[in-house]
Amino acid sequence: MDCVFCKIAAGEIPCKKVYEDDRILAFCDLEPQAPVHILLIPKEHIASAAEITPENSAVVAHIYEVAAQLAKENKLEGGFRIVCNAGADGGQSVPHLHFHLLGGRSMKWPPG
Ligand code: IMP
Repeated sequence: MDCVFCKIAAGEIPCKKVYEDDRILAFCDLEPQAPVHILLIPKEHIASAAEITPENSAVVAHIYEVAAQLAKENKLEGGFRIVCNAGADGGQSVPHLHFHLLGGRSMKWPPG
C-alpha cells in the first residue's frame, strides 16, 4: 500500500521517533505547528477516524494513554491539544489515522 505513515511505521521512511511499541508509533511532525507537535499513529493501517470500529478501537485508547505520557515527558503541565482530522472537510491530508499532540503554546478556539 502506498501510504506514507505505513512506510514510516515499517521503517522505510525515516522519522524523529519519540515512542514505539508493538501497536503504535509516535514521531515529530515534519511541519510543526507548535513547540511540541507529535503525531501518534497505529501501526495497523486505519484510513481515518471514520474507519474506527469495535474491532480496532482499542488502539485509540492506547494512543491517548501514550499521548498523556508524552505530554508529561514534554512538561506540558499548562495543557495541550489532541487533534484528529478526518476526511476532506476535516482537513485530513494523510489517509492513515493519526492524532496530533500539540503543546507549548496557548491554543485558540474555534479551529480554522
Ligand atoms: P493531517 O493534515 O491531519 O492529515 O496531518 C498530517 C500531518 O502529517 C501534517 O501535520 C504533516 O506535516 C505531517 N507529515 C506528513 N508527512 C510527514 C512525514 O513524512 N513525517 C512527519 N510528518 C509528516
